[in-house]
Amino acid sequence: MQRPKILALPAHFKTLLTQISHISGPLLIRGTCAAAKDSCTTGTFQDIVDTDLAYQWNCVGAAGQESCNLTKTTITVAPTTVTAPSTTPTPSLAVSTIKILVVLLNFQDSPSEPFSKEQAEALIFGGQVQKFYQEQSYGKAMLGGNVSGWHTLSREGDPGGTCMYPNAGEAEIQDFIINSGIDPSNYRHLLLVYNHPCMTMSSGAGIQQLQIKGVSYQLSQLGVSARTYLNSYRYPFSWTEFDDMVAHELGHGLGLNHAMLWGCDAGSTFDVGKNCGEEGRNQFDLMGHGAAALHFNAIFKEFLNWFDSSSLLTIVSSGRYTLSPYESSSGFRAAKIKVPGREIYPVYLEYRQPLGFDASLNNPLYVSNTRGLLVNWKAVVEETIGLITSRYISNLLDFSPQSGFGDLNDSNKASLDVSQRFTVPGSGITIGPVISADASGITFDVVLENTPCLRSLLDNSRFTS
Ligand SMILES: [Zn+2]
Repeated sequence: MQRPKILALPAHFKTLLTQISHISGPLLIRGTCAAAKDSCTTGTFQDIVDTDLAYQWNCVGAAGQESCNLTKTTITVAPTTVTAPSTTPTPSLAVSTIKILVVLLNFQDSPSEPFSKEQAEALIFGGQVQKFYQEQSYGKAMLGGNVSGWHTLSREGDPGGTCMYPNAGEAEIQDFIINSGIDPSNYRHLLLVYNHPCMTMSSGAGIQQLQIKGVSYQLSQLGVSARTYLNSYRYPFSWTEFDDMVAHELGHGLGLNHAMLWGCDAGSTFDVGKNCGEEGRNQFDLMGHGAAALHFNAIFKEFLNWFDSSSLLTIVSSGRYTLSPYESSSGFRAAKIKVPGREIYPVYLEYRQPLGFDASLNNPLYVSNTRGLLVNWKAVVEETIGLITSRYISNLLDFSPQSGFGDLNDSNKASLDVSQRFTVPGSGITIGPVISADASGITFDVVLENTPCLRSLLDNSRFTS
């Protein structure tokens, strides 16, 4: 993963101007920055050299000057991916089946098989992974498919003895599928499961496409061995390493990126130029770190068509709003907020409760998050990968940074709480305060104000896969 760049205001570039002589009289003004690039609320604009990351300028008044700074990257939202608010109810979506062909693969130096084909069918299509997808899609998706194998590839899994990611290459997989007579044409996803100790913990390469006879498939690969695949993870429900890998890699295969976390130095609030940035993965999302909760965040669920107009609240005006618990089966389970005057929805809200696959939120480490809002900021990356035309980067905002930038553990407490308000920089959106929160839902205020110029919440130039 690329190390995040830290955006910090250069503290020293205010000295580029020589001192201005004061003019006597009562109307001496101090230069102050406006939100838009190269503009001043008061004083005279004076340009200085921009950096790679930011526009820089000064606003000079007779009583003093201010150094101004605006991150160059703006939130990019492709118009085609934005759903405008509509008064026409969206019809409920039918349950869609995620059609997967699981291929079990040995190498010539593989140990004995960790499970049979029938056991694999039960683990993937009849176990916790199936329940997880049905629960978090609110019954809109289920897994369907078949298992093929065990097959044996015509080489050793670790020919060099280094145990360094010896997964099969694309051409090797294509040749194998074609030559072995496997017909994947009824499926959209191929999940390759390797039996080899060198790949026991590998869980990469989820987002791929594979061309076979002119058809694109989403490809996920993972390694297992008898040693670890049934180890239970630390959740208060059955959830093995195998469940974790399969569910996570399928998420990639559906077009999801990793769910990320944004934090700041302790005491800082989110804004351009502050010591804020990507700190790691979201602990409240299986596509992130997943320690505190497993449901995918609302940005991802919307992308997967798991919401409709009765479950995703679209906030387009100031007011007081109520969300049901994110894991419940009725009511508004998430909200997205529109920037006044723009078809952009930069933030999504969730009210998480310790229910179902989010039950770990009862852990004392995380329980305080169940009384506030989780806020994810959305960046859009336009890409076409196989059958997937775009993917989103979700960034959970940590509203209680406890330690220095870069410490993932301080996101154990991330929610926006009763006493807090958050203004999305430059957007005119203010969230909070929370009015009430209990087992049935959360009520909070939102204020929307027109703003002359949208500027980016945070630098979104990084893209982690
Ligand atoms: Zn991943």
